[in-house]
Amino acid sequence: ESLINRIAAGEIIHRPASALKELIENSLDAGGSSIRITVKDGGMKLLQIQDNGCGIRKADLHILAERFTTSKLSTFMDLSHIRTYGFRGEALASISHVAHLSVVTKTKSESCAWKACYSEGLLAAPKPGQTVEPKPTAGNDGTTITIEDLFYNTPIRLSALKSTSEEYSRILDVLTKYAIHNPKVAFVCKKAGSPSPDLSTPSTSEIPNTIRLLYGHTVAKELVSVTASSKNRDKSDEDESMETDELDDDPESWRCEAHITNANYQAKKMVLLLFINHRLVESSRMKRAFEAVYNGILAKGALPFIYLSLEIDPRSVDVNVHPTKREVHFLNEEAIIEKISDAFQKALTVQNH
Ligand code: ADP
Ligand code: MG
Repeated sequence: ESLINRIAAGEIIHRPASALKELIENSLDAGGSSIRITVKDGGMKLLQIQDNGCGIRKADLHILAERFTTSKLSTFMDLSHIRTYGFRGEALASISHVAHLSVVTKTKSESCAWKACYSEGLLAAPKPGQTVEPKPTAGNDGTTITIEDLFYNTPIRLSALKSTSEEYSRILDVLTKYAIHNPKVAFVCKKAGSPSPDLSTPSTSEIPNTIRLLYGHTVAKELVSVTASSKNRDKSDEDESMETDELDDDPESWRCEAHITNANYQAKKMVLLLFINHRLVESSRMKRAFEAVYNGILAKGALPFIYLSLEIDPRSVDVNVHPTKREVHFLNEEAIIEKISDAFQKALTVQNH
């Protein structure tokens, strides 16, 4: 059974960067203002993420790494969670099957932090003979998750990994994207033992600034902001305050914020940072549609940088896609993509005059 669990876990956690993506989403969900990552050997030896978010209650630690179960569902499920990232409840469980997982966490109301180790979905002793129960320890409010020896028991997964530097660059890539999308959260990433971070963002920025910081001035100076939404807004429309309010309860309502390069920027590779409900995803349909928009504007073969954040009713996102498939589908996909493409077209044309 443990072999089956390991294989299943390897389907969700492919490599250090996919583990990190899950941990970042958890940390963002916990609502802190700082996320610090430490990496050793491309994340294969060590991947540690420290946040200053809400922490995990001591009483919940015993089921933290369980697979999706009724008890876990009622403990961890709340509506805000579903609205943001959708509920799966499998990341920590999966990691515990293919690595050494430990957690140090403290909520505001707890007087000390608690440390727990997990193996195969359950609390485990840090070393043979030691107690499996969470142990009191020193620590600040928030959570530190430590993953060591990823795929130590899954040789096939281990052998599919690339070099440590390649894995590390994938980690930085995921991190860069989340840092851009979350300009109010300070991100730091460093190699263990290294004095200076390889990535560092402030906690008080705006998206175009984080793009400049992480993708460079060449991209940032050519950015155009675009918004679009399900609300049909004419130029005469008095309601321009769309960004501030919540999505309507209407399942068909959506809105998007984008920062896209204009015709002055011509890259060989298209960069599409796509977030749907704050989750980093892929959509080949969207990619094709945007390529088509730029085809008419850029020199042949030249491609844009696009950051796009789309918020739609969580009920209309297809959550049945396998978790490893970042490719996402949603209700009214074609109509929404068309409307966004039109908005891009308009913004780029105006720019050109
Ligand atoms: P999911 O995020 O899909 O619920 P996970 O296995 O990733 O499943 O996490 C299980 C639960 O553990 C989360 O729902 C959350 O309540 C809690 N949790 C995980 N990481 C953190 C964190 N960094 N801070 C606070 N709570 C966390
Ligand atoms: Mg999660």
